[in-house]
Amino acid sequence: MLRVHLRALAAGAVETRRDIAPTDPELADLEFHLSDRVRVSGRLMESGPGSYYWDARLQTTVTVPCRRCLEPVEVTIDEKVRVLFAEEEAADPSTYVIPDHAGELELGEAIREELILAAPEFVLCREDCRGLCARCGKNLNTGPCDCRPEPDPRWLALEVLKARPDTDTE
Ligand SMILES: [Zn+2]
Ligand SMILES: [Zn+2]
Repeated sequence: MLRVHLRALAAGAVETRRDIAPTDPELADLEFHLSDRVRVSGRLMESGPGSYYWDARLQTTVTVPCRRCLEPVEVTIDEKVRVLFAEEEAADPSTYVIPDHAGELELGEAIREELILAAPEFVLCREDCRGLCARCGKNLNTGPCDCRPEPDPRWLALEVLKARPDTDTE
């Protein structure tokens, strides 16, 4: 997907720039839908023996369901990511472990993981989304459903009569 020859880093930081199609196999089976290509930019540099630091930016648009009404909502992702690749497991759990003496570094897994971290978990189509009716499932943004009719004065009058069954006998 996006490979960097590590020998090139001996001369200094390397620019990483790639547009990745949403259909790329490495981006398959995400929990959100990519509605645009993923624009990757950044710089990869050596940060020590066998370790590399990637300072990058991921930009794309994803489509996720509204948490309340489940309608699709488009969300722009523009995320700065800082990733460490190292041959040995570091104390920092966000480090990506790479094989010893690898000739090249594949950034695909990191791009996938960082996108998952950047994707919003709680999205509303609008601040006052009314959500779905818990009984019939109707989207209440499009109007009230039949489960909760508007209060009707005639029904209210009937409720009063039912609440006082002895009124007639007194
Ligand atoms: Zn909604
Ligand atoms: Zn309903």
